[in-house]
Amino acid sequence: MEKFAIITRFDDQSKQIGDKIKQVLLSHQYEYNQENPDTVFVVGGDGTYIKAIHKYMELIPDVKFLGLHTGTLGFFTDYHDNEVDELLKMYLSEKYEISEYPLLVTEVNGNIYHAVNEIRVENIARTQILDVHLSDEYLETFRGTGMCVCTQLGSTAYNRSLGGAVIQDGLDLIELSEIAGIHHSKSRSLYAPIVLSKDTTVKLSSESFEKAILGVDSDVYPIDDIKEFEIRVCDQKRVRMIKGKKISYFKKLNSLF
Ligand code: NAP
Ligand code: MN
Repeated sequence: MEKFAIITRFDDQSKQIGDKIKQVLLSHQYEYNQENPDTVFVVGGDGTYIKAIHKYMELIPDVKFLGLHTGTLGFFTDYHDNEVDELLKMYLSEKYEISEYPLLVTEVNGNIYHAVNEIRVENIARTQILDVHLSDEYLETFRGTGMCVCTQLGSTAYNRSLGGAVIQDGLDLIELSEIAGIHHSKSRSLYAPIVLSKDTTVKLSSESFEKAILGVDSDVYPIDDIKEFEIRVCDQKRVRMIKGKKISYFKKLNSLF
C-alpha cells in the first residue's frame, strides 16, 4: 500500500488543507508514514517545497513529491488552494505523469550537499577573490561578494535577483551569476550571467574562503578552511514530481511579478 507524508507551511490554511488530504487518503486505505513515504504532499509555497525535498533527500529518487500552493501559483506546484478535491482525484486515480528535475551537488569537508535551486558562495565580511574554472578550463578571476550556480528551476529564485536569465521549463541547463562583482580598471570579470550545459563542472577556488559561507538552497555552511570546491549536476539522482494538470510555464512566470 502506498505510504504518504504531508509537509505544510506554518499557516492555518496550509495546515487545514494538509489535514484534509490526510483524512481523505486514510479513508482510502493509504498509509500515513512521515518517516518513509512513497509520496510527499507539500502544502505551502515554493520555499516549503524546497524544504520538503531536503527533508527527504536520502529517499530520492524512490520518493515522489506532489505540491499544492497556498497563495499565488508556484513553480513547483500546479494546484491552487481551491483545488484540493481535484488534486486528490488525480492522485487517487493513479493516472499522472512524473517529471524529473536535476539536483546540483557539491562536496565540502567530506559532506555531500544537494540543491534544488542553487549552490552559492557569499562573503559579506570582505572582498572575496576567487578563480572560476569551467570543466577544468580557466575562465576568470573574480572579485566581489560571491558566485551563484542555479538550476533551471532555481533560475526564478536568487538567480533572478542577481539579474540572471530566467530559464524556461524543460531546458536542462545551469547558470552561473556574479554576486556584486567589482568592475574597474584593475578588476575585470565577465560581468554577465552565463548559461551553461548540464555537463559543465564549475570549480571555484581561492587562497582563502575565510568568513565566506556556502549557501545550498535554504541552508548555509562555513567554508573557512576550504580552498576549492566543485558544483555540478548530480548524475546519481533526480527529483520526481507528480504532474497532474499542466499549467503553462509563462502563466506561472507571469504570476510571479
Ligand atoms: P524562503 O522563504 O523559503 O524563500 C524565499 C522566497 O523565494 C519565497 O518567496 C519563495 O517562494 C521564493 N522561491 C523559492 N524558490 C523559488 C523558485 N525556484 N522560483 C521562484 N521563487 C522561489 O527562503 P529561504 O529558506 O531563505 O531560501 C530559499 C530560497 O530563497 C533559496 O534557494 C534562494 O533561491 C532564495 N533566496 C533569494 C534571495 C534573493 O532573492 N535575494 C536571497 C536569499 C535566498 P514562496 O513564497 O512561494 O515560498
Ligand atoms: Mn510563491
